[in-house]
Amino acid sequence: QRLLDALSDQAALAIERITLSEDFDKAQRAVERDRLQAALLTSISHDLRTPLASILGAADGLAALPDLTADDRRALLSTIQEEAERLNRFIANLLDMTRLESGAVVPTMALVDIGEVVGSTLRRADRILAGHRVETALAPDLPMVKLDPVLFEQVLFNLLDNAAKYACAGTTIRIDARRDGATVSLRVMDEGPGIPEADKERVFDKFYRIRKSDSQRAGTGLGLAICRGFVEAMAGTIEVSTRTGSRGAVFTITLPVPETGQREASP
Ligand code: ADP
Repeated sequence: QRLLDALSDQAALAIERITLSEDFDKAQRAVERDRLQAALLTSISHDLRTPLASILGAADGLAALPDLTADDRRALLSTIQEEAERLNRFIANLLDMTRLESGAVVPTMALVDIGEVVGSTLRRADRILAGHRVETALAPDLPMVKLDPVLFEQVLFNLLDNAAKYACAGTTIRIDARRDGATVSLRVMDEGPGIPEADKERVFDKFYRIRKSDSQRAGTGLGLAICRGFVEAMAGTIEVSTRTGSRGAVFTITLPVPETGQREASP
């Protein structure tokens, strides 16, 4: 009986200790959550205000200087356009992230020709890619793939946006796709600074940005987290590697080929 009493005392003590340490963990998590939320608000306010300040500056210029040359007017108007687009992308990213986190992303899968989605995304990203050379190399025997075209286009758009943002103007961005047995892989490659080995997983975390200087560029640190969330929702994977023998990042999306993904043999 004494042994049993001693054991139950020990158990009670252990439970008390666990409860105390759980309370402590809870309090610590609450502090950490508050800190993250404050950092998030600061970062969001900054990211909203920077393009807004440019838009207001350009609009003020247009309003206050009626004798501007046609070229100057065009330059101010294109600043307004570009910054408004940036703002739009930023807000879209925030909404996408919120949808992902609340489980509201339910893909509408369809059998799709990858070439078509690549084409429509390139048209949408036309202005962003204007300073770069873009090469596409899609294997001719690509099977149809099951994906949600809207989500997939968003993923590809984010990858192209990053490639254009982090690789110098004039460099080449290459998109290729090929079949590997039961999967199709699509890669987006650039000639920018690349992703160091140690950051290959963390770049897909929310708000993670590699270089200090990256936070001076417009962006949320959400783009790649959204890419991973969307690709995984479509039963695929996304990873990053470095180009062999050169600089630059290679983002690879892999999707399964469905049974029905074989192209009909041409008549
Ligand atoms: P954002 O571009 O808004 O900062 P992302 O989630 O898209 O956020 O990317 C996270 C980080 O990964 C970026 O801040 C940058 O440090 C790095 N990164 C993403 N794409 C590239 C790329 N193509 N080349 C080099 N670094 C990149």
